[in-house]
Amino acid sequence: MNAEIIAIGSELLTPLRTDTNSLFLTEQLNRIGVDVVFKTVVGDEKTRLTATVSLALQRSEIILTIGGLGPTGDDLTRECVAAALGRPLRRDEALVGPMEARFRARGLRMPEINLRQTMVIEGATVLPNRNGTAPGLWIEEQGKIIILLPGPPRELCPLFEHGCLPRLRERVPPTVIRTRELRLTGLTESATEERIAPLYTRYKNPVTTILATLGEIQIHLKSFGKDEAEAQAPLDELSPQLEKVLGKHVFSTRSESMEEVAGNCLLRNKATVAVAESCTGGLLAQRLTSVSGSSAYFLGGVVCYSNAVKMDWLDVPAEVLGTHGAVSAAVAQALAEGIRQRAKSTFGMGITGIAGPTGGTSEKPVGLVYLALAGGGQTQVHERRYPGERKAIRWQATQSALDILRRVLMEEER
Ligand code: AMP
Ligand code: MG
Repeated sequence: MNAEIIAIGSELLTPLRTDTNSLFLTEQLNRIGVDVVFKTVVGDEKTRLTATVSLALQRSEIILTIGGLGPTGDDLTRECVAAALGRPLRRDEALVGPMEARFRARGLRMPEINLRQTMVIEGATVLPNRNGTAPGLWIEEQGKIIILLPGPPRELCPLFEHGCLPRLRERVPPTVIRTRELRLTGLTESATEERIAPLYTRYKNPVTTILATLGEIQIHLKSFGKDEAEAQAPLDELSPQLEKVLGKHVFSTRSESMEEVAGNCLLRNKATVAVAESCTGGLLAQRLTSVSGSSAYFLGGVVCYSNAVKMDWLDVPAEVLGTHGAVSAAVAQALAEGIRQRAKSTFGMGITGIAGPTGGTSEKPVGLVYLALAGGGQTQVHERRYPGERKAIRWQATQSALDILRRVLMEEER
């Protein structure tokens, strides 16, 4: 079955508040095999809200609204859903007593306006709200389910779990959703698409989505089945085909970060690494050490910005700096070899480049980065030109550095 979520509240259309409830609901729904196919954020306005609900009724099987159940004039969800369904609203006298009692327990008189929260759409089941005054409502209409939920997360979450999930489970045919995420680097989004489109377009199940992030492409596969095995099978069928055409570009099929993958490779090979970073200013060391357990393979690093530090701490010869300049293949190589010797690590990585936005020349433009990896009796140096601004260039440089390391280690494993 599919579901649609409507988050209601003008504040959610400002930069100040974010609709977080729909993330919770989506996770919960996916777990019972319900696919969320639309999410809408709509302000507290009668015409738009009614139209949004009407549209949802035409196109989705389960509709969940969030918010707009408060006692104030801008809370319009009950009225608008009633209008979209063509059903009247009636006071549920059974709700009045407990609501008054809630106020009395706090030594307060119930304001008249709270009576709005006792109005119930005809035919609806009331879902008690233990953490607030606004009850939820459950309505069934021509095989569709419409659920009205209060906005505050501390009310919505328990109400959904205790009041809705058991009911939904009874009505939703047993469905299991399984996902897999392939991550790759070194290919553009379009090059990735060219390779995999002939394969994934043959499948309705799993559904394939390609997401490009900086220095990384993620391929999300989502499959459905009536049990674990049936949901797993399409993933196991398509995923290896994708991995095959993408080759070594794939660094993870389990949603791992590049630093986790590189770290695991080091661990498996009982190898260690140390880094000498110029233009990345320690970002490579930061990423490597962001993984728990990295002390087993990361020995240390130097941020060598000045020529003096490159020479004094990492033994880069003055002639190399003088002849080639600080941003050069020769200096990257000397940095990698220097840090490896000093740290006595299996591998040494050197990075030097121009992160910009200043400092570029026609010969050495912003984005030019040299990456070197010393170890295993040799040093490999790569020249890369990255697009984007300073932060993006630095990130991509560390992504490549980790990828170079990973590829060498995987080669050794082979
Ligand atoms: P309402 O039920 O519309 O009166 O909303 C009450 C409060 O719940 C709002 O002030 C928000 O702080 C919060 N809220 C409403 N909708 C959401 C949502 N979709 N995600 C997270 N918080 C929400
Ligand atoms: Mg509101």
